[in-house]
Amino acid sequence: MFETIYLVYAFGNSAIKMSKKILLIFVFIIFVIFSIVAFIFLYYNRPPYRSLIIDPLYHFETQEKIVALTFDDGPSETWTPLLLDLLEKYEVKATFFMIGENIEKFPDVAKSVYEKGHEIGSHSYNHKRMIFKTPGFIRSDLEKTDRIIKDLGVSEVKSYRPPYGDKMILLPLELKKQGKTLVTFDVQAMSEYQRENQDSSMISREILDQIEPGSIIVMHDGRGYNSTTFLKAVEEIIVELKTEGYRFVKVQEGISL
Ligand SMILES: [Zn+2]
Repeated sequence: MFETIYLVYAFGNSAIKMSKKILLIFVFIIFVIFSIVAFIFLYYNRPPYRSLIIDPLYHFETQEKIVALTFDDGPSETWTPLLLDLLEKYEVKATFFMIGENIEKFPDVAKSVYEKGHEIGSHSYNHKRMIFKTPGFIRSDLEKTDRIIKDLGVSEVKSYRPPYGDKMILLPLELKKQGKTLVTFDVQAMSEYQRENQDSSMISREILDQIEPGSIIVMHDGRGYNSTTFLKAVEEIIVELKTEGYRFVKVQEGISL
């Protein structure tokens, strides 16, 4: 009798020990998988200079003094026309990564961007993050925005910039299928994102300090802060870069050089 009780006790004890071991192994495997996924996500998702599936265009490989000015999140009813006047004054062509919904709101402004010879790229339909979305959602968002841009008279939408820079896997896969360029940037000013900032030279200096031949600058024509500061900063950048001998190119133009 005593022996039987002892055997049951010993078996139960080793079973508990075994299940603890299995649980520990299971937790460890989950931790490793989570760490790998988190690493891939942090390594590839946000940085403008790397992506899975396709190489992002963040800089033109050249020693020539060329630079691309790109503007995201427009068109804006108030900012964009003023920006167009400024670009015209200095005979600068730029690339506008527009949001489809904003084009629908201000089609005449968007059309005048195209008619004045600037490039229009896609920046999604309504600036939703392109992560944790189905392939169908991403495809239809791209196609819908392209249709809206083409309605302005644009024959082909080659350049795409992801909202918030989020790209991960499915977006680059779809861009590759559609033969588009995933355009990011190598120059931005964190001071441009500060809504209370009214110091244009802080923005222009931050940008100018990073410029080198082939740089792609990102700015925003339609953020809810001070348009006067923004326009002044753009003017300071153009004047300084022209003085230094830089030439401004549109994104697709820069690729084909
Ligand atoms: Zn944006």
